[in-house]
Amino acid sequence: MGPSDRLRRTLRRSAIAVLKNCGAFHLVQASNWRRQRLMILCYHGISLEDEHEWRPYLFIRPEQFERRLEILRKGNYSVLPLAEALERLYRDDLPPRSVAITFDDGTYDFYSQAHPRLQQFGYPVTVYLTTYYSQLQRPVFSLVCSYMIWKARTQGRVDLSELGIRGPVILDSADDRQRAVDEIVQGADAQDLTGQQKDGIAARLAEVLKIDYRDLVRKRILQLMNPQEIKKLADAGVDFQLHTHRHRTPTVEDLFRKEIRDNREHITQSVAGIKTHFCYPSGAYRPEFLAWLASEGIVSATTCDTGIATPQSNPLLLPRLVDTTGRSDLEFESWVNGIGHFLSSGKKARLAYVPD
Ligand SMILES: [Zn+2]
Repeated sequence: MGPSDRLRRTLRRSAIAVLKNCGAFHLVQASNWRRQRLMILCYHGISLEDEHEWRPYLFIRPEQFERRLEILRKGNYSVLPLAEALERLYRDDLPPRSVAITFDDGTYDFYSQAHPRLQQFGYPVTVYLTTYYSQLQRPVFSLVCSYMIWKARTQGRVDLSELGIRGPVILDSADDRQRAVDEIVQGADAQDLTGQQKDGIAARLAEVLKIDYRDLVRKRILQLMNPQEIKKLADAGVDFQLHTHRHRTPTVEDLFRKEIRDNREHITQSVAGIKTHFCYPSGAYRPEFLAWLASEGIVSATTCDTGIATPQSNPLLLPRLVDTTGRSDLEFESWVNGIGHFLSSGKKARLAYVPD
């Protein structure tokens, strides 16, 4: 974050505090303007350990997530199931202060950290599930490589030449760490390795970095929920929807549509019903995707573009609020009540997430 970003953030936070004190929060929250709109919240992971320190844009701490749910409860927000919320959005029939909660990917921490808390509050939730790693039951390769190299950041320099990395890697340099991850992931992709083979590389990387890989796997860090866990949550009312099988959006129509079909087929093995809601992996979309999604019977698609949905929003390009560790409770509240819309510059979310 540069000096001007920091200044902007300070000003934004001061403005929000002033608006809250002068009663503007209540004014917007109770307005017809807000009633016609739906805030779709987007989460990825709730940390099992220190994942939020590694990727504060993707993971938040359990306590922080709980505080968000508390804000929704105290503010009497109408937290609706996604499908119902969208139907009512386009019918102009939303209750006051509507919110829908979504989680991308379906990591194991949703099962152990997020779901029990949501259940405690009685809030419905949609999980956009990517299925390849749910079947494989190993840590997501690109993410776990990045996570382990980050965990080793105080170890000075390391020689990773046996993994195809040129020259020594200076572990306390974020640029060098990123370069090492990119080279490992691209090297594996270039060789067209299977998930199991990639996992062998991750295990070897752990060994070089003196990280206990078996322990990391046992804790299910950066793993997806397995089909039994998915079934159990579906039975408990969690809504599972589409996020592509391999967390990617090919730019060739046949391959793109195959991603949706494979994803659907794998979800159907654990969960009944045809899935018609979709979320773009990494928030990445192109104009041609819309017709392809429609041909697959998709009725809604969410992005990671920041905003609140209106009846005029394209149902296949719905904005959301990506909640992150860096967002204060007051900033979060300003977004859900609608004030954030008036203070935002419409910037797209910064998601440092490379599709696998
Ligand atoms: Zn995703």
